[in-house]
Amino acid sequence: MQVFLEAIQSGASGEDIAAIPIPESYRGAFVLRDEQNMFEGLESADKDPRKSLHVDEVATPELAPDEAFIAVMASAINFNTVWTSIFEPLSTFGFLERLGKESQWGARHALPHHVVGSDAAGVVLRVGSAVRNWKPGDRVVVHCNYVDDQDPSAHDDSMLASNQRIWGFESNFGGLADLSVVKANQLMPKPEHLSWEEAACNALCNSTSYRMLVSPNGAVMKQGDVVFIWGASGGLGGYAVQYVLNGGGIPVGVVSSPEKVDLLHELGCEAVIDRRAAGYKFWGDDGTTQDEKEWRRLGKDIRGLVGEDPHIVFEHPGRQTMGASVFVAARGGTVVTCAATSGYMIEYDNRHLWMKLKSIRSSHFANYKEAWEANRLISKGMIQPILSAVHPLTDVGEAAFSVHKNLHEGKIGVLCLAPGEGQGIDDPAFRDKVGEDKITLFRRHGA
Ligand code: NAP
Repeated sequence: MQVFLEAIQSGASGEDIAAIPIPESYRGAFVLRDEQNMFEGLESADKDPRKSLHVDEVATPELAPDEAFIAVMASAINFNTVWTSIFEPLSTFGFLERLGKESQWGARHALPHHVVGSDAAGVVLRVGSAVRNWKPGDRVVVHCNYVDDQDPSAHDDSMLASNQRIWGFESNFGGLADLSVVKANQLMPKPEHLSWEEAACNALCNSTSYRMLVSPNGAVMKQGDVVFIWGASGGLGGYAVQYVLNGGGIPVGVVSSPEKVDLLHELGCEAVIDRRAAGYKFWGDDGTTQDEKEWRRLGKDIRGLVGEDPHIVFEHPGRQTMGASVFVAARGGTVVTCAATSGYMIEYDNRHLWMKLKSIRSSHFANYKEAWEANRLISKGMIQPILSAVHPLTDVGEAAFSVHKNLHEGKIGVLCLAPGEGQGIDDPAFRDKVGEDKITLFRRHGA
């Protein structure tokens, strides 16, 4: 892969890149099927990604007609890599085995190792015979919706297709590697004003937040809506706050430290709750009953900040917060949820839902069009990357550990082929126009 790196850095043409042989193996971050029971009996918090994530050479698979090989310059940690590396709630080898039974090409994925990672920025090295819109040398980012077009539902909304998967989580050959295999319909143009690592950190969380708040498939936020955002300086929340501000809404962000409160204020979110300082205790000590008084206290705090109840609640912590989320949503409001970090068996008081005509809207990643629109907003400098820290690929376990332990803000980037930070910026004039301060806000806070 070093030959590719030198070619990319020296500005080689697409033809030159296409002439360099694809290596038989490449460096990737992976978990092992043989180790999928290694954390049996431990609490989630004690399962350590640094023990399960390995970085080593893996064999390069054959390329299918609708796919591309890309040189991954940088990638990012997503929570799904934490789930894979602690083998929760399921070992991802089950996903690979199911994909392996689907087709001749699917069979490549059912391996004893799973190369993880669901974000990437890099350069197209080769395209399969059916690929029309991309060619070697193209600088790209990758979204993680891994789907083909043979299911009728995919032509309405590809997230509804029965074989829809998340690349690098439910498929192999993910982005935390020097080389990756992606479907051509995962590719999008790299925002030219961003470095490799700034470009690589967005697609998964940015597209998810776009669908949850902006797309007709989500909560369809309108001007003036109060949007209550859990984890507002985290991977999803850092983009959600920006969408609410861009769309003329009123964000109310929840975070867990004074430093994160400052970060949100700088991002333009005036109404912020420090949940740790407030000390909400929605669940009793036995973990079986919830305290409505605490839900009311949160509702009162929100009203104290913005004078009304939230039209939209942006949910992902799950079990710990869902009861409160349903309670604090305004009459007729929407709780939009895409996850359950703290537990997926959810309890809420249904009386508050039906009597006040609230809805719960589910959301999961984004279709190609939604991911494309979300990337377009990054390219136009209207949504900023929320990169806060950068690790080399060799430290991928440490990076995943930080996310697992909630030690981070925004997104953690990972340098794959890129030898250092700050490379790959093709339009410095536009970068100046957008503003270095805005682009690097989270990086400065994370430093
Ligand atoms: P993240 O970067 O870790 O941010 C989540 C934030 O939520 C944390 O920083 C934390 O912020 C807050 N949080 C965590 N536990 C909480 C709790 N018990 N109560 C209240 N707040 C809590 O993760 P992310 O990338 O935003 O992802 C969040 C979840 O969504 C993960 O489970 C992930 O797997 C899932 N996800 C799903 C999709 C999808 O397509 N369905 C896409 C992306 C992510 P504070 O400590 O500052 O409050």
